[in-house]
Amino acid sequence: MSTYDLIVIGAGPGGYVCAIRAAQLGLKVACVEGRETLGGTCLNVGCIPSKALLHASHMLHETHENFAKMGLNAGHVEVDWPKMLGYKSETVGGNTKGIEFLFKKNKIDWLKGWAVIEAAGKVKVGDTTYDAKNIVIATGSVPSALKGVTVDNDAGIVVDSTGALALPKIPASMVVIGAGVIGLELGSVYARLGAQVTVVEYLDAITPGMDGEVQKQFQKILAKQGLKFVLGAAVSGVETVEGGAKVTYALRKDNSEQALEAEVVLVATGRRPYVEGLGLDKLGVQTTDRGYVQVDGHWQTSVPGIYAIGDAVPGPMLAHKAEDEGMAVAETIAGKHGHVNYDVIPGVIYTMPEVAAVGLTEEAAKATGRKIKMGKFPFMGNARAKAAMQAEGFVKLIADADTDRILGCHIIGPNAGEMIHEVCVAMEFGAAAQDLALTCHAHPTTSEAVREAALACGDGAIHA
Ligand code: FAD
Repeated sequence: MSTYDLIVIGAGPGGYVCAIRAAQLGLKVACVEGRETLGGTCLNVGCIPSKALLHASHMLHETHENFAKMGLNAGHVEVDWPKMLGYKSETVGGNTKGIEFLFKKNKIDWLKGWAVIEAAGKVKVGDTTYDAKNIVIATGSVPSALKGVTVDNDAGIVVDSTGALALPKIPASMVVIGAGVIGLELGSVYARLGAQVTVVEYLDAITPGMDGEVQKQFQKILAKQGLKFVLGAAVSGVETVEGGAKVTYALRKDNSEQALEAEVVLVATGRRPYVEGLGLDKLGVQTTDRGYVQVDGHWQTSVPGIYAIGDAVPGPMLAHKAEDEGMAVAETIAGKHGHVNYDVIPGVIYTMPEVAAVGLTEEAAKATGRKIKMGKFPFMGNARAKAAMQAEGFVKLIADADTDRILGCHIIGPNAGEMIHEVCVAMEFGAAAQDLALTCHAHPTTSEAVREAALACGDGAIHA
């Protein structure tokens, strides 16, 4: 029987990164994964397949909307849905195989099966119990259920995000329940592919938690792209009917009962931590009232030698947050100083245009009671964005009015998900808005809009 320095449970972005870093630091490592392939939710049914479909559907949108304007006469471009799904699967396969290669390269044992923690230091997979000096729980999350709604991904009518990534055909109509990141990304995919998409959201704004100004602009842009929104609506049930499903909801403003029918209903009301079957109760590993594994500042659970990271613990449910925690906990276990700066974790919505944010929103910055200043720059003033016919949106930089220190940045526009990183780096270095304003940016790039927003925090943007 093997004894490991570390057994990681779950091979998502949190778990596999943790395993690789620990192996690089000289530890003997195994990673348990119950799925057929490595990579977790992110690679198999999350970030990667959704981005493949977003990319393909964006290409289609470009051919319909902008090709002719640029003098490109492509004729009528048709969608071969099975082939598009094949492209998505190939993208996933290439990435999951890549993790397998990295495991071999770093001499990490992949223990295939579902793990049970029998005691601190003991992990059972199938009929074998393995000894480990340390255990990291990286078991991730699953879609949360909505009361009164039964999801059946195989039937392809009432689906969650996993089902929506593999629908048997492109529906003519779709209701998305939940206007969060996943609902809007997948809703945009099907809208671009020709479905009439209606998004039903309980709150009065889309993308809860984002900067208010961005929320409003984003909704306007999506509405222009054909998505319909019903906000302030409490869904009470979904039933299958002839040709699809019916969603019933009550409008919160007047309690009136309403209903919508569509060929497909996507339930995208969030995700919950997944720790089923691990045996946490018996071990005395404490969880929060929402089911997350409780950890201290070093990702240690209430049981010494057992750590937890990623979607299974509180915090933003994002792959890169899980990866950062994976690296940091491996370093901690190896006797180094693992660190994650939770103040600088970007969030991106990969629609077109993209939406990206880091740090405080205007509302949260004001709520701290400090004096703030803001620099805003529209992409209409950016030559590169205009040349690409992507001049919708803006960059908004928020800084402390007294110290000029950058507190947050919110971008809605082309390449927002890439551009946000210069602000992340600036924030990591404790930069002032003026530091960005003084940094020469290549012309013509969309990143110039970030510099202009920084200039707008001082004496003024040039092209606004
Ligand atoms: P997971 O990726 O969920 O991996 C956990 C793994 O543990 C799973 O493979 C599971 O099979 C395994 N496991 C669980 N229990 C056991 C057990 N007992 N024994 C063995 N194995 C076990 N995030 C982003 O940052 N960017 C995006 O663009 C993005 N897009 C997304 C799109 C969709 C449609 C979805 C659903 C999610 C998206 N996310 C995105 C979120 C992202 O996928 C998660 O935040 C991330 O995967 C969390 O990583 P993790 O390692 O904590 O867990």
